[in-house]
Amino acid sequence: MYPTPAQQAALLLQCGHARYVWNLALEQWSMWTPDKGASPGFAEQCRQLTEARTAFGWLRAGSQTVQQQALRDFDQAVRNFYASTHRRPTWRKAGRHEGFRVVGPQAGRVEQLSRQWARVLVPKVGWVRFRLSRAVPDAKSYRITRDRMGRWHLAFAVIPEPIPAPVTGEVVGVDRGVTVSAALSTGDLLTCPGLSERELERLKHLQRRLARCRRGSKRRQRAKSAIAKLHARARDRRRDWVEKTSTDLARRFDVIRVEDLRVAQMTRRPKPKPDPQRPGTYLPNRRRAKGGLNRGILANGWGLLVQRLEHKAMGRVEKIKPAYTSQTCSICGHCAPENRESQAVFRCVACGHHAHADVNAAVNIAAGRAVSARRETPVRVSLKREPQHATSA
Ligand SMILES: [Zn+2]
Repeated sequence: MYPTPAQQAALLLQCGHARYVWNLALEQWSMWTPDKGASPGFAEQCRQLTEARTAFGWLRAGSQTVQQQALRDFDQAVRNFYASTHRRPTWRKAGRHEGFRVVGPQAGRVEQLSRQWARVLVPKVGWVRFRLSRAVPDAKSYRITRDRMGRWHLAFAVIPEPIPAPVTGEVVGVDRGVTVSAALSTGDLLTCPGLSERELERLKHLQRRLARCRRGSKRRQRAKSAIAKLHARARDRRRDWVEKTSTDLARRFDVIRVEDLRVAQMTRRPKPKPDPQRPGTYLPNRRRAKGGLNRGILANGWGLLVQRLEHKAMGRVEKIKPAYTSQTCSICGHCAPENRESQAVFRCVACGHHAHADVNAAVNIAAGRAVSARRETPVRVSLKREPQHATSA
């Protein structure tokens, strides 16, 4: 979206109102104690909002739809929390969470200007121009957000139709790794683009400069926004890759099998290890090493890829237990840690099968094979893939 400077100020004001109402609702919800009776629901909060709007002119100056919608969003967040599908609602912060939602007839005021441009009538702001990245869908609501780089986005809320299956009966296994973002059982190795060598160098330089700047100084502000720009660039590339890869997989294969990994658990901070010899001190817990891995996992957007796959190939994504997929031979089924020659190379000690380690794991995932740790005798599982000679890698 391309608002004029005056419109930007008006939009930011609306974002501020939405954030204020959300945080107020959150405060009310988290301060509530059982002796006060039932905590106020959406309807009660709306009544309170109306009262607050009559009492405070600055709140009244904003759009009622926007403020009420913030309450509805919060209500949904609380429901999601109690349904344990989402985490506890968090505080909205200026500069980080800038956005609001418009619903109902007000959301339908969109006019196409040309093939690429359109405009939307935002309440209390006026007509704002935006570029069309696709045809405007028939949506009942939209959300306006401002990212940390200061770019404005307009998103219409509509669930697109999932991508139809190709009906070829083909199954693919996807192994998600850190060095190679995704290995397919077909042998393809896909890498999620991040920042280039030079961009990483610049990021490091900027972070050092930021550390030297005085708090609240102009220089610090500049360094901060330059860092945000680099991060946003990396995020844009990652998202673009995830969208293209998920669409491609959903179009090419009937069934997509992935490892069932708990990314949130895997990226959690490792527990401190107390030293039994000296109380009060701690043994190394490989926190820094895990930190590097965390960055790799998050940078590769694992969770996002599976999430988008589930949206696009609805009902065609299967999650496989990831245990031993990297140690098990995809040809003979022999499972041993010695099979893994190195991070990248897999060589079966039983049959001599030689392959890229991630591709071997992807084939196991495609077969839906979950081997138990104790099994001594290899199990033969019929595979879609032709067995290969040890020499052909
Ligand atoms: Zn083997």
